[in-house]
Amino acid sequence: MTQDVNLLINGEWRAALSGKTLDIVNPATEAVIGQLAHAEQADLDLALKAAQNGFEVWREMSAFERCKIMRKAANLLRERAKEIAVLMTREQGKPLAQAEAEAMAGADIIDWFAEEGRRTYGQVIPARAPDVYQLTLKTPVGPVAAFTPWNFPINQVVRKLSAALAAGCSIIVKGPEETPASPAELIRAFVDAGVPAGVINLVYGIPADISNYLIAHPTIRKISFTGSTPVGKQLAALAGQHMKRVTMELGGHAPVIVCADADVELAAKEMAASKFRNAGQVCISPTRFLVEEPVYAQFVEAFVRYAKDINVGEGESDGVTMGPLANSRRAPALVALVEDAVAKGAELLVGGKRIERKGYFFEPTVLGNVPVNANIMNDEPFGPVAVIRPFNTLDEAIAEANRLPYGLAAYAYTSSTLNATRIGQRVETGMLTINHVGLASPELPFGGIKDSGYGTEGGSEAINNYLETKLVSQKGC
Ligand code: NAD
Repeated sequence: MTQDVNLLINGEWRAALSGKTLDIVNPATEAVIGQLAHAEQADLDLALKAAQNGFEVWREMSAFERCKIMRKAANLLRERAKEIAVLMTREQGKPLAQAEAEAMAGADIIDWFAEEGRRTYGQVIPARAPDVYQLTLKTPVGPVAAFTPWNFPINQVVRKLSAALAAGCSIIVKGPEETPASPAELIRAFVDAGVPAGVINLVYGIPADISNYLIAHPTIRKISFTGSTPVGKQLAALAGQHMKRVTMELGGHAPVIVCADADVELAAKEMAASKFRNAGQVCISPTRFLVEEPVYAQFVEAFVRYAKDINVGEGESDGVTMGPLANSRRAPALVALVEDAVAKGAELLVGGKRIERKGYFFEPTVLGNVPVNANIMNDEPFGPVAVIRPFNTLDEAIAEANRLPYGLAAYAYTSSTLNATRIGQRVETGMLTINHVGLASPELPFGGIKDSGYGTEGGSEAINNYLETKLVSQKGC
């Protein structure tokens, strides 16, 4: 069965004007499973025109009506989640249950933003003179260009799409070329729910060509990007040249601080599940494990036990808990990181290499006593590799957590409120979760600081990224 994907421009699903396509590859089998329409400048010009026209229609619709359409899209996504999960697993590799959960979580995100769109309140500011009203109005920023990656094909689109639509913006999504079918089905749910033509447009092609063209184009008023820090810096610089609003959700290298007073078994169990979810290809993946010396051996033993229990295989097979890497690029990068760490004195506790079979499979890997000069202690691994080292004082662990320029997610386990308070106050991060994994629900802020980006993609602040504040000062006559 093939899963071909077309562009969506002005409400029409269609091939690229040039007729060009790209292969869609199943990372578990390396087989070509479909063709993806490949947009070029002429397609982008049509998408830009459609987004401008769509914006004019959508911003005039009441927030109440927009909400109703969005909630209908959420329900369609829920109804279709099982079928969409199959497409996602075939193109991305993750186990079916995780793919279905992602689609279902996407529906919750749509619902949240649909309701937030009804609460984009302005203010009435007391005037200095009689007969004057001073109002601030929240108005949609305009057509948005959103660039999303392949690790969570639906989740990465749905946050940007839902916030933009709830605010009254139109959008051009440059979806992930490696995993295009499942985000196209997300967008189909909106189209089928009655979003007018041109409000949502979906394109794929050469990422740099599309971002260079769209970011500079006067129609686009706002950019949102999720991906690596180097690319994010380039796109933010380009957006700056054109005075465009920007949200950047970039890389991370999340520290995990496990104190000697923690529930060590719980920490190992929860963190191993988080580490190996989506084969570690997660921007908030726990990665640098800092474990207090007295419980270091206990934590390592438990963590390795959980790593060995992971059932790696094709995401469509029963009982599989970790699929392949999503593309051929990551495995050589991970091998190089592991070899460098071992050469510098780290202990390879389990895994460490590509699995010899068709598909981009990599062993769940744990490295112990990793020196800070190992590349993997500095570069985001973006794969199923956990890096563990002991610490002696909490100050030392906090300094190590803050050593890198990243600041996306951080984790901690401790039974001491004093330790928890110090970690909460001093670890430089956009998101911190202590004694459990409590991240990424629609109502929570989602975003980073430092080189991990700026602007939240969740919670009550997220919609502001798509709104302008306009002052209206009016004297009665
Ligand atoms: P990459 O940097 O080549 O690409 C990352 C994403 O950015 C991809 O979706 C790609 O299509 C897009 N991209 C690349 N250049 C672009 C451009 N000029 N304009 C617009 N989009 C562009 O890396 P990769 O090999 O695909 O992924 C590996 C790295 O990317 C990881 O190390 C990780 O840091 C990062 N990444 C982060 C996330 C996240 O959730 N924050 C997701 C995927 C990848």
